[in-house]
Amino acid sequence: MRTELVSEPGDHGRPNEDFASVGLPASGQGGSLVLLDGVTPPPGNSGCLHSVPWFTARLGGALTELTVSLPDVPLVEALSRALTRTAEAHAGTCDLSHPRTPQATVVVARWSPETVDFLVLSDSALLLASPDGTVTAVRDDRLDRVPRALLASAEICDARARNREGGFFTAAADPSVAPAR
Ligand SMILES: [Zn+2]
Repeated sequence: MRTELVSEPGDHGRPNEDFASVGLPASGQGGSLVLLDGVTPPPGNSGCLHSVPWFTARLGGALTELTVSLPDVPLVEALSRALTRTAEAHAGTCDLSHPRTPQATVVVARWSPETVDFLVLSDSALLLASPDGTVTAVRDDRLDRVPRALLASAEICDARARNREGGFFTAAADPSVAPAR
């Protein structure tokens, strides 16, 4: 199978905050892909000593490893474990309960010779092409249901809408954010 990965920062004046990987286990049976889009924080204190790239590298690395090393563990559980592992890496130095703690959108897909599993969190999309050429977009539609008035204010959006039921969900420090699929 041929794989291509391309990643560019949204703003060339800033470091790339995204993570992308493909894991192909030595068994040769299937594989997984991980895409994280780091959420650029507003200026100010985030409670965290680390950068968004630090966060996405750790979460993405853990997720890549877990999805290929534990093929029978559901993706929701793998994301929960990866979030726990990443949180443990800086729980001793940072305030992970801060609403601006580093976070990211998540796309994970894992395939075997028979099946494809996937998980999409927040506003990244997964496009699936079937053998007949049909392309299906997989999105987390919770963002569409956030009231426009909330989205109009970045401050309120960060502090209240994100990771609240009725708002939208990104992967930050809380393992329970993993969606049920
Ligand atoms: Zn930190």
